[in-house]
Amino acid sequence: MSSGEKKLPDGLHRDTLAVRSAVDKSQYGENSEALYLTSSFTQPDSETAARRFAGEEDGYIYSRFTNPTTASMEKRLAALEGMEAAIATSSGMSAVLLLCMGLLKAGDHVVCSQSVFGATIKLIGTEFRKFGVESTFVSQTNVGDWKAAIKSNTKLLFAETPTNPLADVCDIRALADVAHNAGALLAVDNCFCSPALQQPVKFGADVVVHSGTKYLDGQGRVVAGALVASAKLVAGSFVPIMRSAGMSLSPFNAWVVLKGMETLAIRMEAQSQRALELATWLEGHPKVERVYYPGLKSHPQHELAMAQQSGRGGAVLSFDVKARDADAARKNAFHVVDATQLMSVTANLGDVKTIITHPASTSHGRLTEQQREAAGIRQNLVRVAAGLEHIDDLKADLSRGLDTL
Ligand SMILES: *Cc1c(COP(=O)(O)O)cnc(C)c1O
Repeated sequence: MSSGEKKLPDGLHRDTLAVRSAVDKSQYGENSEALYLTSSFTQPDSETAARRFAGEEDGYIYSRFTNPTTASMEKRLAALEGMEAAIATSSGMSAVLLLCMGLLKAGDHVVCSQSVFGATIKLIGTEFRKFGVESTFVSQTNVGDWKAAIKSNTKLLFAETPTNPLADVCDIRALADVAHNAGALLAVDNCFCSPALQQPVKFGADVVVHSGTKYLDGQGRVVAGALVASAKLVAGSFVPIMRSAGMSLSPFNAWVVLKGMETLAIRMEAQSQRALELATWLEGHPKVERVYYPGLKSHPQHELAMAQQSGRGGAVLSFDVKARDADAARKNAFHVVDATQLMSVTANLGDVKTIITHPASTSHGRLTEQQREAAGIRQNLVRVAAGLEHIDDLKADLSRGLDTL
């Protein structure tokens, strides 16, 4: 299949791998990676087909588990995370599903941060409980809680950092030590930072979980996901399940994410810069009570975040709008959201278009008031996922509501 293509030299930097890492070009020498929009691949003869189906010879078979475009996306993501292998999934949640199906069986136990993505809590805590998998949910930031939750049947620790929407940061290295001392694995959802800012494997994580829907695509076009891990884990624990369970990413969506990763580093840099400027400005605003952003010195885990996240806070920040009483809390937050004329009011993040949301009535709307209170998500909280618009336009957009409270 090669077109006499130059082979990539060893030791390339991540910026280079982000635009160059892919499977071999076709015989046509396309410069932009090809989109192989095909459900299956023809076999030269029956003997070859038999060897390929038996796994004795490399070769594409059927796009539920092998496709060159998807393979390029997996190769590029693995390179960015500094890991051997990756496996693409149809969504971020199907990546968590594949992770749990691949590593757990009835009678096993999972320790998970109580501040991870809501659907992850539901999948591990409710759905997998039906199949006999136990789980304990613990503090995002207190390593002692994680240690205390370990049991003899603990097989997996699951963390996400920073969290949505309050940007609490957990110590990946410390959690990896807790996991490994217990003979368990650590999985980290790296959706918020992306590999451009944070590579959990560097700090001892065994599996990195991704929602490709967010920063990897980066322009709000497709739903996608992936797991990144050692070649042994991917080939031994995840590929067989993908082949039988089929939570596969479509080649088209894989191609969109593949091209998105080419600009990931510069987007993360520029969007983090805007988020830091917004957070700094909001912290000094008379109508703002508190700002949650790892890039601010006032953030409780600022130093840990800077060490773990390449000195960047990421693109998501939240803030409490000042309010006289409980009734005014929700009203004032809604006023700030609804006064914007530029920002998108939508349930997503990781887009180049800035997104503004009211977590207590949307992403965290199904929690009880008590659960929300425990999680620190109050009615006056507003979340902003900074995009690429000019910083002055973003400030003006937030000022429309803040200045008229
Ligand atoms: C969005 C998100 C997910 C789920 O990803 P989907 O692609 O929507 O399935 C998982 N974890 C985090 C942190 C997310 O933000």
